[in-house]
Amino acid sequence: MLRVFLLVFTITTPGSGLSLPGLDRNLNMSGTVNEEDQYMCACQPAFNCLHNKNYCNTSRGAGCFALNGEDGIRKGCGADKEKHLLNCQGKRNVVWRPDSGGPNLVVKCCAYNLCNVDVEDLTLPPKVVAEETTFNMNMLMAVLVPIGVLIVAVVIVVLVFRHLQKRQPGSQESPRVREELLPQEYGGIRVTQVGDSTLQELIDESCTSGSGSGLPFLVQATVARSISLIECIGKGRYGSVWRGRYHDENLAVKIFSSRDEASWLRETEIYNTCLLRHEGILGYYASDMTSRNSCTQLWLIMHYHENGSLYDYLQSTTLDWEEMLRLCHSAAAGLVHLHTEIVGNQGKAAIAHRDIKSKNILVKGNGNCCIGDLGLAVTHTQENNKIDLGRNNKVGTKRYMAPELLDETLNPEYFEAFKQVDVYAFGLVIWEIARRCVTEGMFDDYKPPFWDVVPSDPSFDDMKKVVVIDQQRPAIPNRWSSDSILLQMSKLIQECWKCNPKARLTSLRIKKTLNQLLNQPQCKKIKDTNKC
Ligand code: ADP
Ligand code: MG
Repeated sequence: MLRVFLLVFTITTPGSGLSLPGLDRNLNMSGTVNEEDQYMCACQPAFNCLHNKNYCNTSRGAGCFALNGEDGIRKGCGADKEKHLLNCQGKRNVVWRPDSGGPNLVVKCCAYNLCNVDVEDLTLPPKVVAEETTFNMNMLMAVLVPIGVLIVAVVIVVLVFRHLQKRQPGSQESPRVREELLPQEYGGIRVTQVGDSTLQELIDESCTSGSGSGLPFLVQATVARSISLIECIGKGRYGSVWRGRYHDENLAVKIFSSRDEASWLRETEIYNTCLLRHEGILGYYASDMTSRNSCTQLWLIMHYHENGSLYDYLQSTTLDWEEMLRLCHSAAAGLVHLHTEIVGNQGKAAIAHRDIKSKNILVKGNGNCCIGDLGLAVTHTQENNKIDLGRNNKVGTKRYMAPELLDETLNPEYFEAFKQVDVYAFGLVIWEIARRCVTEGMFDDYKPPFWDVVPSDPSFDDMKKVVVIDQQRPAIPNRWSSDSILLQMSKLIQECWKCNPKARLTSLRIKKTLNQLLNQPQCKKIKDTNKC
């Protein structure tokens, strides 16, 4: 029985045209052919066949072939003597992969009489090169797609995590979008790294930066950007004050609305006065301008004092002599520092506060005070005798207004007049403090000045009537006269709130008097027994 071997494989030749002798060289077949010695094969086209006939004879079972190539279908004998010189003998049933670039061929070999006559279904396979490219592309996609998906997933997880972190309690105001830079004069240049330094370290490093009492200009915005707001701790004339966190440190952030830009600018200006840093002045870190929900917010970043304002503190605290005197003396020291001009290359202008009151004085953890809220301050230097009122037209708090403000006789060209206004108000503050001093088990409730003669939010005219027309001052409680320290305090207070501004004590005199009181022997004696 004749056995038929049908082989299908692809062949390419290095040249662009089909060269059948080349085919013989390139054919790589496996298996064996069950040969018969002589038989005929179909041969086409005839010009390729011996004697130009459409048949040919095989020799020794070289086989008949039919091939489909780029020139169409050809058939013939695989015998050496034929022009085709295609030999199906040898190894068969192996798909031979041609070199890239050559023509594709599909070849069927068979080995019996005229076995290649009816062979027509020779479909050219896709080019191997294309196959390989597809294969490589598939491989590439199989590697790249999972990596891409992984990267996108990681990015999403990180973004979600960061978003959740910002939303945690204690960062209600985050995220803060900063679209605007500070005005150039306030350090418009930003830096990105302040490292892990504490604010105190940054402040200490800033001694030579010449940026006033706060952080170096370059650091201010960077620090501000890292603050999260925790809770609202106060409301004042211009907005709200928040406790904020910078790394592990508390700080106070005063947030001005954009319509109070003049106040923010003024307070920033004053805090950036050289040599302003002092124990008796609220510590300042930085100013920053941010844009949030298309609304400009102006920040002033300061030391945080958990006791809050003197006003808050006195509501719930009674005092012994020493506590009273330390509150008064430290506040007076702050006022002296403000009022004093320091002449020199890197000097300091004299500053009048213009809004001295217990709500603008803060109580520190060590029982001393410091003066805050410098938004209304005016400055003066003797050298050019120029008074800088700033661009802020707001006036001080009516309850604390001196008579010359209420009767509008104050001469704004005369800087001392502003200091005298401060001293008047300071007298009222000492009165508020002294009421809380316990003597022989007695003390007075906290009351604001003139609580008994004007309404809770007195008008300018209410105050004018009481202070100027009726020449009233807060009452000195009777018990004060039987206590040596409180008696001296009452004298000091009355020297402060005199109607004639020039007759009032200077802040320096107040501070010295308080210092003397602090050092009085009877106070010292009591101090030793831990009573003062
Ligand atoms: P305003 O200029 O709006 O009057 P203030 O600076 O006087 O603002 O602050 C308003 C209130 O916020 C203060 O009376 C005080 O209760 C609180 N406050 C201000 N600064 C601090 C601070 N540094 N630490 C703690 N509380 C503060
Ligand atoms: Mg205030």
